[in-house]
Amino acid sequence: MQTSLVSSRAVGSDREDFDLVVVGASYAGVGVVAAAREAGFSGRIALVGDESDLPYQRPPLSKGFLLGKAGAHLPLKAASFYSEADIDLIAGRHAVALDLDNRRIQLDDGSALNFRLLALTTGARAAALRCPGADLDGVVSLRSLGDAQALSSRLAAARAIVIIGGGFIGLEVASAAVTLGRQVTVVEAGQRLIGHAVAPEISAYMLGVHEAHGVAVRLATKVERIEGEGGQATAVICADGTRLPCDLVLAAVGAVPNTELAVSAGLMIDDGIVVDEFGRTSGPGIFAAGDCTSHPNVFAGRRLRLSSVQNAHDQGRAAGFAIAGRPEPYGAVPWFWSDQYDVKLQMVGLGVVGGPAILRGSVAEGRFSLFRYDGARLVAIESINRPADHMNGRRLIAAGLSPTPEQAADTGFDLRSLA
Ligand SMILES: Cc1cc2nc3c(=O)[nH]c(=O)nc-3n(C[C@H](O)[C@H](O)[C@H](O)COP(=O)(O)OP(=O)(O)OC[C@H]3O[C@@H](n4cnc5c(N)ncnc54)[C@H](O)[C@@H]3O)c2cc1C
Repeated sequence: MQTSLVSSRAVGSDREDFDLVVVGASYAGVGVVAAAREAGFSGRIALVGDESDLPYQRPPLSKGFLLGKAGAHLPLKAASFYSEADIDLIAGRHAVALDLDNRRIQLDDGSALNFRLLALTTGARAAALRCPGADLDGVVSLRSLGDAQALSSRLAAARAIVIIGGGFIGLEVASAAVTLGRQVTVVEAGQRLIGHAVAPEISAYMLGVHEAHGVAVRLATKVERIEGEGGQATAVICADGTRLPCDLVLAAVGAVPNTELAVSAGLMIDDGIVVDEFGRTSGPGIFAAGDCTSHPNVFAGRRLRLSSVQNAHDQGRAAGFAIAGRPEPYGAVPWFWSDQYDVKLQMVGLGVVGGPAILRGSVAEGRFSLFRYDGARLVAIESINRPADHMNGRRLIAAGLSPTPEQAADTGFDLRSLA
């Protein structure tokens, strides 16, 4: 993979004029520019990103990348896409200021870009750990390729790692680290793993999986501080007084949307940058998409900020179509996946947490799905190693079709026959 790609039209100290500037070069930003071109947008486009690599796939960073798996570091699009679509990819440049009155965005090298239309696809960053010792050497987080490279080399030298946060990223890293032979402890403040995103049954199943692989999981445990020697982290101290010796700490305590440019420009914010179903913000001609936004979600029936590849990609495309004058409202079914050991966890739809679930498959065999209903309507499926249920669920929920609970429970019933 090419490691850096800077604009074919070098941006110097002079201002340049663009019909569309997109800030943030990842799933949402690439979705915007690709869809805009597909829909016939012929104006001049700049895609600005502060990472120096070609826009790349982020999910493998906590999965195969740490295990050195081939194909775990892939670009979203080949370099030729940007030249063929006539998109100026300005890589390795951070947008530092947004002047809406003059429709100008300033970059960290002192240059500025004039725009007619703007899309903010600035994503999110790892939430900071807030406790004494969080700034010690050996306390790291994971969001970017650079973070993953640093984590990978530290893991190679580490004996014991404490992972603070039992969400998806924390658990995926736990899976990789224990597979690499490290001693792994996960400390989670909540009562169960991945509690914000999955049903209690899935949390319990994943707890069993991790413990069976030798990960020590401490639930309902708050971190009080991190102890160090000579500036290097040496132990995590829990609020209950437990001392967990380690030489590496991963803070996996959530993500914070990058809304600073939008805030400074006075755009409406509600957890993320407020957008409508076409990706339009409160500023005229200013769009936004992906992890940095909060959008009206038809499946949730309310405004929501999602952190997923599906949302970033599909919402970016909706914004791109609107930019090109061919608006199509964003209403894609939310879906997500996580790989831990040989477990593929997949989710589709937005479940009613705590609502009744219909079991399809066998928990004992590690191949099952939970079908969740709102009345008679199927609203979500969480699957463990049953990818066909997940794929069928995506089609069914999108089409508003629901198997009866009896059909859902019967593995002999072909869900495809409903579509
Ligand atoms: C380790 C890891 C594993 C994940 N695994 C999964 C998974 O299994 N499944 C799943 O669905 N999702 C997963 N996700 C979440 C998924 O990667 C994100 O939802 C997705 O990347 C969001 O895309 P985005 O384009 O909105 O933002 P991002 O991918 O966050 O990209 C935003 C880009 O904008 C840049 N940027 C920000 N501010 C500026 C600025 N001012 N100027 C220039 N550039 C700027 C950022 O550096 C970044 O490159 C994972 C995330 C991580 C970190």
